[in-house]
Amino acid sequence: MECNQQENLKNCNCTYPCDKKGKCCECIKYHLSRNELPACCFPDEVEKTFDRSIAKFVEINS
Ligand code: SF4
Repeated sequence: MECNQQENLKNCNCTYPCDKKGKCCECIKYHLSRNELPACCFPDEVEKTFDRSIAKFVEINS
């Protein structure tokens, strides 16, 4: 199966320098292992703080 990295990048709002951009399977695996969610789960104002914790996600959606 081919990777959709270039297509995925069109929907990536991540501003952190990272080699997982567009590799959504690697991205979500990495963040879930840290009790976090990927950048695209957060609005831009929160994304740029790099706080990707599940606690932050719950806070902004409560
Ligand atoms: S959300 Fe995290 S893993 Fe995904 S590209 Fe950004 S910094 Fe990398």
